[in-house]
Amino acid sequence: MDQIGHYIDGARVAGTSGRTADVFNPATGEVQAKVALASADEVARAVEIAAEAQPEWAATNPQRRARVLMKFVDLLNRDMDKLAEALSREHGKTLPDAAGDVQRGLEVVEFCIGAPHHLKGEFTDSAGPGIDMYSMRQPLGVSAGITPFNFPAMIPMWMFAPAIACGNAFILKPSERDPSVPIMLAELMEEAGLPKGVLQVVNGDKEAVDAILQDETIQSVGFVGSTPIAAYIYAEGCKAGKRVQCFGGAKNHMIVMPDADMDQAADALVGAGYGAAGERCMAISVAVPVGDETADRLIEKLVPRIEALKVGPYTSGTDVDYGPVVTRAAQENIHRLIQTGIDQGAELVVDGRDFKLQGYEGGFFVGPHLFDRVTPEMDIYRQEIFGPVLSTVRAGSYEEALKLAMDHEYGNGTAIFTRDGDAARDFAKRVNVGMVGVNVPIPVPLAYHTFGGWKKSVFGDLNQHGPDAFRFYTRTKTVTSRWPSGIKEGGEFSIPVME
Ligand code: NAD
Repeated sequence: MDQIGHYIDGARVAGTSGRTADVFNPATGEVQAKVALASADEVARAVEIAAEAQPEWAATNPQRRARVLMKFVDLLNRDMDKLAEALSREHGKTLPDAAGDVQRGLEVVEFCIGAPHHLKGEFTDSAGPGIDMYSMRQPLGVSAGITPFNFPAMIPMWMFAPAIACGNAFILKPSERDPSVPIMLAELMEEAGLPKGVLQVVNGDKEAVDAILQDETIQSVGFVGSTPIAAYIYAEGCKAGKRVQCFGGAKNHMIVMPDADMDQAADALVGAGYGAAGERCMAISVAVPVGDETADRLIEKLVPRIEALKVGPYTSGTDVDYGPVVTRAAQENIHRLIQTGIDQGAELVVDGRDFKLQGYEGGFFVGPHLFDRVTPEMDIYRQEIFGPVLSTVRAGSYEEALKLAMDHEYGNGTAIFTRDGDAARDFAKRVNVGMVGVNVPIPVPLAYHTFGGWKKSVFGDLNQHGPDAFRFYTRTKTVTSRWPSGIKEGGEFSIPVME
């Protein structure tokens, strides 16, 4: 049985708390490793090492820091297959999807190579007689990140790449469900030239998270995961005086207008609803056809596509569309919610409850499900299912469809499928959701834009990656300077004003 410890001070180390969690192979249901769960003391030790390493890293000029990231990109490409395999083995997603997970993180690393440019301050020449004013962005010190199971490569990189590019040391507390890839990433960063102690990985659960939140040296905490934990971490982190950004759950609606290309909409829904077994915060989980005729046409197109989905282990290579969900508990919760949908009167058009895979009976597989005639009071509409279950809510009009997306408590992503530019424009402008797709089902912004939802999908103000990341991981210092005369002519006692 593999033992997965932590990555501290440039080396893999065993845990000392005596507590561990099981790491499953979701395709077989077997426990394939035990991951150490850090104690508060182990977190404190990592913070001490980070605080020692950080000043020298911050003093390394930004171009040299960026060169480490350049080399890291090469190493990610070199080890892409190895990383994808390790990721699939613990997460369950298909190999091409796992490579995509690494790739979308890599793209943020590429963006962060521009650190020397992003960190440039502002300068005002002659703000007053002989007075110059300039600002600079300085690192915070030690930052920490707490990440979810569903993107074990991408989301850690979204955090540590900008944090480290800005001159911070970073402590990553990844999900205990799939802890191998984060440690591999830390090793690659050091192979790329990062001094030891600047990036450390501490595995753990609530105990490690609480230790991070209470630690006085840690200046900022980034979190991605479910909304109740996001709310907790935001409140506790802010209470402790830290800079905090937390990204939570989602229930993404896709509006299908009567004039949409129905084949394109159905293809988009199948990919966005069932890809990665629906375990994506940007998955589409609610289809909103406008008008009964649109709904009937859409369902007719969806059913054969959904019934044709190939579900299987990642070892089947490109021959599967999606794999198992992450744990038995996740599988049971999805089945429980499906049952509430049936009990509360939704129409189960594609029923995947009997799905079985020969040879993988113990795996955490969930067959694809499609519900029609879902209403906003139902649990399957209100809650995030995070599984291969698409709900259809029939809207009578465009305004009704828009209102559905607006009234839902989550506001991560949404999409509209239409040929009408005016409807698309109106939707993009009015909807209270952070990321909007127009004939694009999963509108995850590229690295040089920012990523973030609205409403209960986010706590905090700055988004992930793009220019916001450089703001989150630095603080601004503004210097007002006057050379060489002025004071020697006598002090000023009233506040200076510009005349
Ligand atoms: P989760 O909230 O269970 O866990 C996330 C992290 O929090 C993990 O590192 C975990 O160890 C830690 N954690 C869990 N329980 C805790 C507790 N009681 N106290 C302190 N820390 C705790 O989320 P998950 O199941 O790993 O990920 C799925 C969720 O993440 C979904 O809700 C999904 O929508 C969301 N997500 C959101 C985004 C986004 O950008 N908005 C991106 C990816 C995933």
